[in-house]
Amino acid sequence: MGRGPRWCHARFRNFGYKMTQPREIILDVLSRTKKHLSAEDIYIEVYKIYPGIGLTTIYRTLDILTNMEMVSRYDFGDGRSRYELISDKKSEHHHHLICLNCGKIIDYNDYIDEETKLFDKLEKVLSEKHNFKINYHHVGFYGLCDKCKSTTSS
Ligand SMILES: [Zn+2]
Ligand SMILES: [Zn+2]
Ligand SMILES: [Zn+2]
Repeated sequence: MGRGPRWCHARFRNFGYKMTQPREIILDVLSRTKKHLSAEDIYIEVYKIYPGIGLTTIYRTLDILTNMEMVSRYDFGDGRSRYELISDKKSEHHHHLICLNCGKIIDYNDYIDEETKLFDKLEKVLSEKHNFKINYHHVGFYGLCDKCKSTTSS
């Protein structure tokens, strides 16, 4: 035990959940990767450490972690949900560029000033307009990456 970011334990307590070993291992796997893993990818990684685990537990745990806003679920258009740890650090928040051809995902957080201002303003306006408390957002731009752009246009 003792794996996983420490702030997770407090979050579990607040939500009335227990920090179980599978939950801790899944969080640990997600905290050590920069990739956007599917449930199956996570299963393969967790299985190495905790062979008793089943895919159903992985799915259920990912649902809980998503509801707790510890993990975000993305659909990048390849038919598989992908998961990424939501960091408490604002500096780790990022947006995505997704290639529809090869599935490459670019994380970026070198926002231009207008982008930061736009999203701050957008969240403020939307939450007032719909009386909705916004906790976080997902931003993804879909298209063709550098490589695919040059091969499809030639
Ligand atoms: Zn953002
Ligand atoms: Zn591509
Ligand atoms: Zn990402």
